[in-house]
Amino acid sequence: MKIIAVNAGSSSLKFQLLVMPEEEVLAQGLVERIGHDNAVFTIRFNGEKISVSEPVHDHERAVELVIEALIKHKIIASLKEINGVGHRVVQGGELFKTSAVITDDVVEKVSELSDLAPLHNPANVTGIKAFRHILPDVIHVAVFDTTFHQTMTEDAYLYATPYEWYQKYGIRKYGFHGTSHQFVSERALELLNNPQGKVIVCHMGNGISLCAVDGGKSVDTSMGLTPLEGVPMGTRSGNVDPSILQMVSKMENRPMHKVLEDLSKRSGYLGVSGFSHDSRDVVNAMLRGEPRATTAHRILIKRIADYIGSYFVYMGGLDAICFTAGIGENAPVVRRDIVKAIRVLGIELDEAQNELKGERMISTPDSKVKAFIIPTNEEVMIAREVVRLRQS
Ligand code: ADP
Repeated sequence: MKIIAVNAGSSSLKFQLLVMPEEEVLAQGLVERIGHDNAVFTIRFNGEKISVSEPVHDHERAVELVIEALIKHKIIASLKEINGVGHRVVQGGELFKTSAVITDDVVEKVSELSDLAPLHNPANVTGIKAFRHILPDVIHVAVFDTTFHQTMTEDAYLYATPYEWYQKYGIRKYGFHGTSHQFVSERALELLNNPQGKVIVCHMGNGISLCAVDGGKSVDTSMGLTPLEGVPMGTRSGNVDPSILQMVSKMENRPMHKVLEDLSKRSGYLGVSGFSHDSRDVVNAMLRGEPRATTAHRILIKRIADYIGSYFVYMGGLDAICFTAGIGENAPVVRRDIVKAIRVLGIELDEAQNELKGERMISTPDSKVKAFIIPTNEEVMIAREVVRLRQS
């Protein structure tokens, strides 16, 4: 069967067409700058890449473009060949403990959760509506970034803030990157041949989050109410003392929301290095001996090691750590320094394996705790959920 996995942002729409259960990708692409006259549509299939620029005024037009291209390039003969659509949704709150078959009621609930994810959920809803309009007769499934973390217990997800904030406004830790953490941890448990294994997934891309997974269940994760919490990232600060907001606001005579924006967009690698949010640039500058790039890198390594140490204690042991996403899959220096920083846990790096790419074990054969590179695949996870719910 053929399933489309969709990730709709406010001005973009990414998609992948997969044959399931083989998990083979037939086509993938994205529409960027939706809402503009010079939108760009890119599609890749059969080793070909085609890019066109044309006006795309809304998401519905973007969906039409995708479907027209799939038919024009004979990737499918007609709309009827598509058996289901899986939609990535960022925030599922406490309402969605698993993926959900989309109904009008589900769309309304996803909209209602927009207070908790004002930048993302409205865009996700727009994508869902556009696809449902064009493909009304197939199953649509919402797959949430948060549901994998709904297994956390109160001690892990509640902030020690006035309890009414949680009751009235839903202020708690939700966590993100759940689809990726689930995909990677499931694969790690297969590689360990131990469904009850304890693993820590380091999803390190533009956003970075760690997740402690015990026997297949997320028990703690580093992102919180929003993706700003946790370790430093490309442009985000991760955890800081919240008093900084008021102090800098007063000193610079700028409103607090602007200072908050600095924590989100001008911090992390970018803020400390002073020149780049990209780990490639920062690591290269560090290797040239540039002091602030070195500091940015060392802060990141320390803070990731802090989380790994705390998850080791919280889970009462550890079988493997897994690296995934842009940095996790491609940056040997970052992986090497994280593994070195947590050596006390009984982990030894295989330097040669660490220099390579693709799924592999990068710890030595006798390392007590294993380390893996496991490339993430959120689209496959989304398509698997569509197949599962279609059959249930
Ligand atoms: P997103 O979180 O937007 O999905 P990705 O998972 O694609 O992002 O990760 C993007 C980041 O991965 C880039 O900002 C860059 O820092 C890092 N990255 C990508 N390729 C490499 C590489 N070859 N070496 C080091 N870092 C890389």
